[in-house]
Amino acid sequence: MNWLEVSLTVNGELAEAVADVLARFAPNGVMTEQAVRFKNVEDEGTPIEPIAVRAYLPANEKLGEVRHNLEEALFYLGMIQPLPAPVFTPIADQNWMEAWKIHYHPIPIGKRLIIVPTWLVSPDVERIPIRIDPGMAFGTGTHPTTQMCLELLETYTVKNRDAIDIGCGSGILSIGAIKMGARFTLGVDIDEASVKASYENAVVNGITREQFAVGLGSVTEILNGSLQVPTRGSQYIRQAPLVLANILSPIIISMFGQGLVNLVSPGGTLILSGILTEQSASVLSAAQECGLKLIEKRKMGDWIALALRRPDI
Ligand code: SAH
Repeated sequence: MNWLEVSLTVNGELAEAVADVLARFAPNGVMTEQAVRFKNVEDEGTPIEPIAVRAYLPANEKLGEVRHNLEEALFYLGMIQPLPAPVFTPIADQNWMEAWKIHYHPIPIGKRLIIVPTWLVSPDVERIPIRIDPGMAFGTGTHPTTQMCLELLETYTVKNRDAIDIGCGSGILSIGAIKMGARFTLGVDIDEASVKASYENAVVNGITREQFAVGLGSVTEILNGSLQVPTRGSQYIRQAPLVLANILSPIIISMFGQGLVNLVSPGGTLILSGILTEQSASVLSAAQECGLKLIEKRKMGDWIALALRRPDI
């Protein structure tokens, strides 16, 4: 069956009223999409306006009448509070659950990479694709913090050497590092859904178990050797010339206390992201206290990413 998507992008106050109206006509419920910003680990998140409200109407013989009634209901709501016009998009998709996927597009990154949702063909064969289906894990590649890490990876990945990815989510940065020439990447995450999603995405990208392993855990588990993962050859990796962590500032700062710097080989690079502008000074000073030197800083919207070097011994 085909569907007609109806969507309105509105502010937070209106979203609930609009969702109520759409729900009267959409048998499968209403979706709202909104970015959320976190101030610290305890923060439950502050939603960022506006909100996209979407619903799907079955394209059957009643569609004309349903659409008319829906437009009328929105018109009445619009008389109380001004509303944007609804946008109607036909969806020729057998499975309406898949419909959300049409909102994800390929995203070119830096000079050489492109993030391509697994269900699309890359529009740019010159760029190296990172194929991602985020599933339940974080890391679609649409977030500025992920994009800045990938840009920095283009510069700082050391060919034919290892990399470590703390908080690997969908595996997007690990896959990026391997595509940029790392011989092996060890990913860790405290969320089991991420371990699963990372392996699945690695397979889609043609990455083998010789190139990538994911473990449940964090900095401490890598350092004390308690990760239950296969490693590169017979070697257990505790250190690499490239270490990535796209996690929120308070978590990054606590990871410095757990020995994050010891994961970086002398002369190697630590890439940090997930840092809100106002928190970057405290992350940088925690890094400098551990002997790291700032080599590059990037900014996208409210977010900062840092590339830091561990001096040679
Ligand atoms: N690397 C991906 C995902 C970043 S989201 C990207 O760049 O898009 C942050 C991830 O860190 C989440 O998957 C979360 O489960 C994980 N995480 C949170 N706290 C962690 C910790 N202390 N140690 C390891 N992973 C952690």
